[in-house]
Amino acid sequence: MSTPERVRYHACPLCEATCGLEIRTRGREVVGIRGNTADVFSQGFICPKAYALKELDADPDRLRTPLVRRNGTLQPATWDEAFAEIDRHLMPIVREHGRDAVAVYLGNPSAHSMALSVYGQVLLRALGSKNVFSASTVDQMPKQVSSGLMFGTVLSVPVPDLDRTDYLLMLGANPFASNGSLMTAPDVPGRLRAIRKRGGKVVVVDPRRTRTAAEASEHHFIRPGSDAFLLLGIVHTIFADKLVKLGRLAKHVVGVEQVEALARAFAPEVVASRCGIDVAVIRRLAREIAQAPTAAVYGRIGTCTQEFGTLASWLIDVINVLTGHLDRPGGAMFTKPATSGPTTRGTPGRGKGVRFGRRNSRVRQAPEVYGEFPCACLAEEIETPGAGQVRALITIAGNPVLSTPNGTRLARALESLDFMISLDIYVNETSRHADVVLPGLSALEQSHYDVLLRQLAIRNVATYSKPVFEAPANQQPEWQTLLRLAAIVSGQGAECDVDALDDFVAMQRVEQDVSAPGSPIHGRNAADIMAALAPHRGPERMLDLMLRTGAYGDGFGAKADGLRLAQLEANPHGVDLGALQPRIPEVLRTPSGKIELAPEPLVADVERLRAALTRPENGMVLIGRRDLRSNNSWMHNLDVLVKGKPRCTAQMHSSDAQRLGLSDGAIARVVTRADSIDVPVEVTDDILPGVVSIPHGWGHDEPEARMRVAAANAGVNSNRLADELALDPLSGNAVLNGIPVTIERAQ
Ligand code: SF4
Repeated sequence: MSTPERVRYHACPLCEATCGLEIRTRGREVVGIRGNTADVFSQGFICPKAYALKELDADPDRLRTPLVRRNGTLQPATWDEAFAEIDRHLMPIVREHGRDAVAVYLGNPSAHSMALSVYGQVLLRALGSKNVFSASTVDQMPKQVSSGLMFGTVLSVPVPDLDRTDYLLMLGANPFASNGSLMTAPDVPGRLRAIRKRGGKVVVVDPRRTRTAAEASEHHFIRPGSDAFLLLGIVHTIFADKLVKLGRLAKHVVGVEQVEALARAFAPEVVASRCGIDVAVIRRLAREIAQAPTAAVYGRIGTCTQEFGTLASWLIDVINVLTGHLDRPGGAMFTKPATSGPTTRGTPGRGKGVRFGRRNSRVRQAPEVYGEFPCACLAEEIETPGAGQVRALITIAGNPVLSTPNGTRLARALESLDFMISLDIYVNETSRHADVVLPGLSALEQSHYDVLLRQLAIRNVATYSKPVFEAPANQQPEWQTLLRLAAIVSGQGAECDVDALDDFVAMQRVEQDVSAPGSPIHGRNAADIMAALAPHRGPERMLDLMLRTGAYGDGFGAKADGLRLAQLEANPHGVDLGALQPRIPEVLRTPSGKIELAPEPLVADVERLRAALTRPENGMVLIGRRDLRSNNSWMHNLDVLVKGKPRCTAQMHSSDAQRLGLSDGAIARVVTRADSIDVPVEVTDDILPGVVSIPHGWGHDEPEARMRVAAANAGVNSNRLADELALDPLSGNAVLNGIPVTIERAQ
């Protein structure tokens, strides 16, 4: 008798959209994947990446056993051997050189995985090193800094209320490729089309005419890195034309006069040539936003990964506030997530706010931001001798050799480490340097709840997915791996009792909650709460706790029909908690209890922008590019996502190509202070003259990496060109957009 087919429901963990999938299986095999039409949020939408989950699950290159370096090569080992090796080599480094000698790098998938996001923090606390780095500083950190300063927490990030807005101004974002970011929403393309269909307007500002730009009501090319100039020109016009309309926010905002004073020097006539957008257009955009019944300004990676990233991120919300569109249906709003988090914990309407620079990196004295240093500092912390030098590294689901600036220098630095551990599903360009590689499970062997990104969703929704397949007995879930690492770095040795440690970690979290004023379980008995969380363990127990103490939770009996994990388990298509609702002042956690429109660090940084007004233009500049079939570098090992025309090309305008003597397919040598790469040219008129665009995450030609499909489609690592010394000073984010380059023919 043949094995029957079964249907399982699982959220796609590959990007922020978290679309619902309907997965047909036969035994241990995936037979088909399609969108789950019953999913309360995605309603059947998926993108081509979802189909790759089948290939990823079956990929023979995906690691299924730990690897330990013996005689110079990574060789299969048992879990016990791997942890014994870690204990043997890591702890002497800690004992001799201190905890800061061990650095941790967290890759982007850490934000999507419940296990990695919750238990990664357990490892960091147990390790106690100040040398923490992550992909956040090549991505969204500027937005988190500006939002934290304005509204009070790391996750106080307003998201555009896409389904109800009449007008969307979008900068540096290409959701037709990325499906949105810092804006969790399945089918953003469909939602953008719906804005236009209902008579609204979508305006895209981007140095490239992306697919998103092509489908917008209008598109304006902008000089890379100059978004802050455009935005200040808009702010200037809003004041000059008396369009400020704070509405119900008036009594909750401070700093309006300071912003008005700052914007005086940035009239459209002053900024137009700097950003490349006409004076009349800047004025019109300001008026349209201010006069639209509902509107939202939204910026994403292009506005973050630039030298004025935090200023641009701030000015976006300054406009949302000044035009009265913040915290209104159809405007930029705050999610009220199901799990308790920074925007729902603590005292509604007041908090401690955020503080940065509590310590500095050792070599270049870069200030800490949200507990981490810029990832662009990692190589120098490894290379530079002296007290506090990084001698060991733990990477968690990351490939910083490809995703952070000056990958060539970082790869060299990794070779000099005394010891390195990687938690990864592949031996990639980074983990190939490790002494021990600890594999993760297949995405389909894991449960899923997007704890972090559901806090930035355009609708309040909670979805929990059970694993599609049981994990093989000889494999270990990531949360247990992280607990065992935590046990080792806290001196408990390689053979800890994982269950006991998990109980300890959960109890610590419960004790925090019962002692926190404002918590729905404040003053309750911690042991009773722990008993109520049984029989869940691991991430499920933590999730149940976060749900039950969250905004919709049952408060462990306080609200009879309140949310708990059991309810989500019974509803595999998700639970819809409704459209976003106004949250000001309750959402604010600034010490003043107000929206801080002119936080001091941002005001001070405007001087840097003013100085740049008269700076001579760079010649050619480099920007990145996102493709629908790519997100993380490991996706390049899946044939279904890399087949077809090579996508790692240098797009440039026909006028630039002609001037440089380059034609389609010619090999260009692109040179920066950091390095040079040779890359095939793709001539297009969908890019601003003077700009060259190369996608990141490629460059799979490193020896020893074990990704065969990727190696056959290697491309080049564009981040070799990024200058590790060029940072947005407030956030520590690397400058990846607007990098000055020279270009010549390679042969
Ligand atoms: S949009 Fe994102 S979440 Fe949805 S199917 Fe594609 S990769 Fe998965």
